[in-house]
Amino acid sequence: MTAAGAASLPGWDLAYSGKVRDLHVPEGTTLGTAPEMLMVASDRVSAFDQVLDPAIPGKGELLTTLTRWWIRRLGLPDQLAPDADARTPEAVRGRAMLVRTLDMLPVECVVRGRVTGSGLKEYREVGSISGVVLPEGLQDGDALPEPIYTPAWKAPQGQHDENVSFERTVDLVGAEHAEGIRALSLSVFAQAAAIAAEAGLVLADTKFEFGVDRATGELVLADEVLTSDSSRYWDAAALAEGRVESFDKQIVRDWLAAHWDGQGEPPVLPDDVVARTSARYRELIERLTA
Ligand code: ATP
Ligand code: MG
Repeated sequence: MTAAGAASLPGWDLAYSGKVRDLHVPEGTTLGTAPEMLMVASDRVSAFDQVLDPAIPGKGELLTTLTRWWIRRLGLPDQLAPDADARTPEAVRGRAMLVRTLDMLPVECVVRGRVTGSGLKEYREVGSISGVVLPEGLQDGDALPEPIYTPAWKAPQGQHDENVSFERTVDLVGAEHAEGIRALSLSVFAQAAAIAAEAGLVLADTKFEFGVDRATGELVLADEVLTSDSSRYWDAAALAEGRVESFDKQIVRDWLAAHWDGQGEPPVLPDDVVARTSARYRELIERLTA
């Protein structure tokens, strides 16, 4: 499988293209056997499971910078390969991470401090999210009494992820890992939300993925970390005045929701939507790292 815009890198084979990222492995190896892989973030943007046209200039680099910044800031066991920076091919350095291949757990570890998006939809339908029962009367964007862990089963390629109960994650990955990733998700979210708050940002929700280190058996925070693709960040001051100003691809989602009925090819994004989205991604980094 190839995707538009995947880099061709000497010494590396393109093993997989997701909607946004390309995974490269050392030439002649495969994803399963390579001990390391190069995760390259493209500028592609997806919404409602569709990769959209055109790409958002600089997005891959901004998201990679954010993941690296959070990994350092949180000081957790991380997925980076030894000497990752120096060994990353020059051509993609700013938007790539050389990581140890982990045995990924098929659970999307979603933590929500606010009720919105697909969580809100589920709450309105059944009064709970991933089996977590919530108080009545919550409105879009409301703070939850405390952050909740609402895992999803990471469906095989081409299928939709599915919100599942914590008990179901026990069936999927075993009790020890299920409890481990829940505890880590909630504690990392709490730390990150506090750091974001200092920058005047509300971390509304995020999604983590964890893998098991093949050498040590340790749980490691993998994939992208607290990026604006995997998280919703809102401006706290605007929110206090009742406005949601988000630092993620909400601009793209909103535009698409208003201009596409979900049938056939999605329309091409207008220049101003692209420019505003790009500026928002940039502003988030500036705010967090200032
Ligand atoms: P989607 O397009 O829905 O996001 P995807 O999640 O499969 O699909 P990407 O997010 O673009 O695609 O690709 C990243 C993939 O790499 C994910 O499947 C993720 O689980 C996996 N991954 C991330 N970090 C590691 C790691 N350290 N070791 C092994 N696999 C990893
Ligand atoms: Mg992904």
